[in-house]
Amino acid sequence: MSFYSSENPRFDRFVLGNAPVKQIATGFDWVEGPVWFGDANCLLFSDIPNNRIMRWIPGEGDSTFRQPSNYANGHTRDQQGRLISCEHGTRRVTRTEHDGSITVIADSYGGKPLNSPNDVVVKSDGTVWFSDPHYGIKTDYEGYRAEQENPCVVYRVLPETGAIEVMVDDMNCPNGLAFSPDETKLYVADTGRMFSNDEQHIRVYDCDNEGMLSNSRVFHKIDRGCSDGFRIDADGNLWSSAADGVHCISPEGDRLGRILVPEVVSNVCFGGRAKHQLFITATTSVYMITLNRTGVQAP
Ligand code: MG
Repeated sequence: MSFYSSENPRFDRFVLGNAPVKQIATGFDWVEGPVWFGDANCLLFSDIPNNRIMRWIPGEGDSTFRQPSNYANGHTRDQQGRLISCEHGTRRVTRTEHDGSITVIADSYGGKPLNSPNDVVVKSDGTVWFSDPHYGIKTDYEGYRAEQENPCVVYRVLPETGAIEVMVDDMNCPNGLAFSPDETKLYVADTGRMFSNDEQHIRVYDCDNEGMLSNSRVFHKIDRGCSDGFRIDADGNLWSSAADGVHCISPEGDRLGRILVPEVVSNVCFGGRAKHQLFITATTSVYMITLNRTGVQAP
């Protein structure tokens, strides 16, 4: 059995012929938001409909990290290693401090509540970038049904002042996002409005030293399912969720190959001692494959 499908000779050097796709945890309803803590030797991920964040430890398995989680979705870590979380239920982005207390980074724009923050990334300058589609307030499945009061955009929060700015406003529903390794490009997935047939694709923006974006354009369109979440490796290749697994997209926007996963994938993150393992959240389970790649992930 093959765990991947190569479509370019470059991809053959990214994978290891004898490394399996392993199911490392299962029994969830919709897992998302994987984030690796090398210092604690664990993976955190969200089981959104069950309102909990799970923790997986190699050799030990999974247990509940936080419940209720306010229907947390995407996570990342900031430059100080702190957990940054998107919460559907409370419609906010939070930071878990080293002492365990919770700090609210953003919960409103223009005096109105956010929709349901979905995915988040922290730039090296400390600014927090997150997408705010409406998925978590459209039904009661992954949050609480509510009126949408702000458009579906990508925001940036400045660390010094807490000021919040709209950075991307040309999408139906922004979702996963990541910077290129040198932070000169920002990739954002548009997964379309719920209950509609909007086009779904990944866009890319040029990003200057001040974080200002320009030159919005389509980067890649996943042809099986959609790109919900993704991470970037050290050479700028993008590893995206898809309906049939994980698609590896070159910096030029071409698909190089696929890792085949038996459930619909929502998101991925790099981890392990050399950031060489790809953790894959996929519907009811989490999978892991060791790659001949190094991931880019704060801190
Ligand atoms: Mg997402």
